[in-house]
Amino acid sequence: MTAERINGVGAAPGLAIGQAVHWRKDHPKVETHTVDNTDQEVARLEETVDQAKEQLTRLRETTRERMGEDEAGIFDAHLSFLDDPAYIGEMKNRIRNQKRNAESICAEVTEEMSSMLASLPDEYMQARADDIRDVGNRILLLLSGIEPFDPSLLQPGSIVVAEELAPSDTAQFPPGIAAMVTARGSKTAHAAIMARTLGIPAVLGLGDHIDRIQDGDTLIADGEKGTIILSPDPETEEQARKEMERQRELREAALKKADEDAVTSDGKRIQVFANIGSPADVEAALENRAEGIGLFRTEFLYLENDQWPTEEEQIRAYRKVLEAFGDKPVVIRTLDIGGDKDLPYAELPKEENPFLGHRAIRFCLDNPEIFKTQLRALLRAGVYGNLWIMFPMVESVSEIREAKRLLEEARTELEREGVETASPKVGIMVEVPAAAVTADILAKEVDFMSIGTNDLTQYTLAADRGNERVAPLYDAAHPAVLRLVRQTCEAALKEGIVAGMCGELAGDPHMTEILIGLGLDELSMSAGTIPEVKEKVRRTDTEKARTLADEALTRQAPEEVRSLAKEEN
Ligand code: PEP
Ligand code: MG
Repeated sequence: MTAERINGVGAAPGLAIGQAVHWRKDHPKVETHTVDNTDQEVARLEETVDQAKEQLTRLRETTRERMGEDEAGIFDAHLSFLDDPAYIGEMKNRIRNQKRNAESICAEVTEEMSSMLASLPDEYMQARADDIRDVGNRILLLLSGIEPFDPSLLQPGSIVVAEELAPSDTAQFPPGIAAMVTARGSKTAHAAIMARTLGIPAVLGLGDHIDRIQDGDTLIADGEKGTIILSPDPETEEQARKEMERQRELREAALKKADEDAVTSDGKRIQVFANIGSPADVEAALENRAEGIGLFRTEFLYLENDQWPTEEEQIRAYRKVLEAFGDKPVVIRTLDIGGDKDLPYAELPKEENPFLGHRAIRFCLDNPEIFKTQLRALLRAGVYGNLWIMFPMVESVSEIREAKRLLEEARTELEREGVETASPKVGIMVEVPAAAVTADILAKEVDFMSIGTNDLTQYTLAADRGNERVAPLYDAAHPAVLRLVRQTCEAALKEGIVAGMCGELAGDPHMTEILIGLGLDELSMSAGTIPEVKEKVRRTDTEKARTLADEALTRQAPEEVRSLAKEEN
């Protein structure tokens, strides 16, 4: 068989070579028939639902042991479906009213609910559609008495091949799985998040191509590029093995030095921080020697809940992170919903242009009670560490002043209640072009600024960050974006405040030198890239970096900036 390269989506980085094993998912054939004794049929369904609950509770427990409480929490959504009157209750009603067998009713109700959820524009709700399909299939397998796929068939070094993997599948991976490749799924799917947590390379979205893969075929999966090579020739395999070895050595060398500070060859200290989405990410941040947290995206706390998280719930989450980092800075960003992040219980009205709409600080300032709960939680949790509070999507001085006024109001309330409060530094994200252009004015109002290149790029280039069709236009290395970065850094320097970056660009090791040359003091990124970026900092000379950055600002297009950056690396 000849080697074949197939392109998909890289969802968890890393390179792996292994033998393919199909994760066979049985979707039982559902037949419809009438039942006379509906009570008996309802009882059969109830018994099955109890068995499903037992299975899921066990899975939750093993996941908690292997991956932590947050990953285990994914199964709470599954378990809650099993108690949901709109789901299980509806099945029972239909069995009674329509006198049909549990299998056909279960398949029907699951399909209706999952289609409804999948049709919603929000990615989070779409993921719930996958969850309910997974739960429905579990009930159907139990009703039909079919044994599910046995994960013990997976030898260490196997590459799991599947149509799609649910978190309940990934959670059953035995240790030593080399990679996972699937026909469907996106980077933000829960299974992809789990793969990243487990450090397993993942290539998703390969479509029907996976049907050509046979059990036992050799595969090379590249989770960085998002490609697989099916049945590679010995030369390609050898090259891949060398590349794996090179990556492993690089990573080990960088990790060995990761404890050392990131200081340029001429003595400028650059803080290299981690971005996190929940307290569960702290472990990876510490393992990779983050010198602090440059962005804690708190919206996940809200997205994982089915109602507004209470002050106490929030304190627990913030405190965990603050305590883990002791006196090192932890930048906690206040709620950033709207745009692509919907919150079902917030009942946000549909907007024509959500990214230009009522999101982030705009929503918070118009909902002071919700905002103040978070500010109170932050002020209370702040006494356990070195808290920096950051407001997202700011574009004007008046927004900063109003946010700070509410922060002071929250403090006064707490002091009146006799509760101890922290005195955090207060800063903003610079992710709207208006903020970058007027950074000299905004810098006077805050203790620090952190550039969010993910949004700054989409707003500067008028290219939706989530739209595949404009993806070629969306590149943070565009000179227009870099000019705004330079402008922001100069304003921060003039006011003597910290200029950081927490967008994805900060974690691109090829860009480290240019970013230092633009004047950044702090770079915050996903934990895995910290050791490599620290190493790049150590090899940078700030004068040379400045000349390189000046040069980059004169280039016409992002590709030119990137090739300039590569020449230097
Ligand atoms: C950004 O916009 O660069 C950023 C870090 O925020 P988010 O990706 O959460 O919008
Ligand atoms: Mg943003």
